[in-house]
Amino acid sequence: MYYNRPVDAATHRIRSGRVHVVEIPVTEVHSHGSGDVGAVKTILLELTTDTGITGWGEASPWPVFTGTPEAVIGALKGYFLPAVAGRDAFDVEVLMAEAEKAVVGVSEAKAALETALLDIMGQALGVPMHVLLGGRHRDRVRLSFSIANPDFDEDFAKAERLVADGVGIFKLKTGFTDHAFDLMRLEKLRERFGDAVDLRIDFNQGLKAHEALPKLRDFENFRLSFIEQPVPRDNLDAMAHFTDVLTTPVMADESVFNPREALIGAEKRVADIFSLKIMKSGGLRRALEVAAIARAAGIGVYGGCIFETGVAHAAGAHLMAALPELTLGCEFYMSTYYLTEDIISEPFPVSGGHVHVPTGPGLGVAVDRAKLDAYREHTF
Ligand code: MG
Repeated sequence: MYYNRPVDAATHRIRSGRVHVVEIPVTEVHSHGSGDVGAVKTILLELTTDTGITGWGEASPWPVFTGTPEAVIGALKGYFLPAVAGRDAFDVEVLMAEAEKAVVGVSEAKAALETALLDIMGQALGVPMHVLLGGRHRDRVRLSFSIANPDFDEDFAKAERLVADGVGIFKLKTGFTDHAFDLMRLEKLRERFGDAVDLRIDFNQGLKAHEALPKLRDFENFRLSFIEQPVPRDNLDAMAHFTDVLTTPVMADESVFNPREALIGAEKRVADIFSLKIMKSGGLRRALEVAAIARAAGIGVYGGCIFETGVAHAAGAHLMAALPELTLGCEFYMSTYYLTEDIISEPFPVSGGHVHVPTGPGLGVAVDRAKLDAYREHTF
């Protein structure tokens, strides 16, 4: 972490913290190898300092992937908020190391805590969050949209509109129905858009290892940028085998959450690319550690997300800005093209098929309190 802290600077002690649970309807159901997603339930963390700065973070758990909202809420309310009360928000590494020790797992809650602390620090210093990570390698990142609607006619029409919007990358969620449906969708998209679009597929662990290879070979002729997580996360041997024998690059998503799994994944060559997500790694700095391991091993990285609002997307965009290498784009499209409403006051900065890295202090986006109230979930 790089920042200049004047010796006589006032400390920014955390005076209060609140956990907001919101549920936002989506524009259409998304289907995946690991299940369907309707409304998006996400958790916003609000920290306020005694100097009057409010920092925001987001935890967006997906029960079949990272964990449950209940575990995140329990960790934040029961452990992390009491631990940071009265502490200096600039002690990010110290506070995160304590959080790591206090509760195992709950990577999404740790991502929210770190994001809120970095938001406070960025605002206090008057610099965007990516400056706290070492600076900005790029101003914008190419956007990937996920084709995941069981009704492909709807998705096809949407792809037409998105291409007109400048979107040039489509990731098809595959393996949630049958193989022929997956091949048909790729054929139609290639036929319509040719090589003007970059296509890739994601099985979300949906294939059985013993039947996967013949199916995966059928995709080799579609000139895909990658095949993501074909088999369950723990089957590293199968992942390594597919990486070895397929011409199309293989990406690990569920198989690589954190630096330790990245190290194992690099040693076993389980993939050509790792998907980075702050909800998997437990924050931006841990995601940079995953990226550093990938880079040292000659493995590429990609900007992934869970089902998030603009707060987590902004944090992800700052992370993507700070990565030395990033060639395959990112998928921070949720709040623009998937959620019926975002929780931030301005639309998330997506245009011309790119995510634009926020440049304001801290996160560079503000939570809209009226929307927070409107979408607050009352049942927990
Ligand atoms: Mg994935």
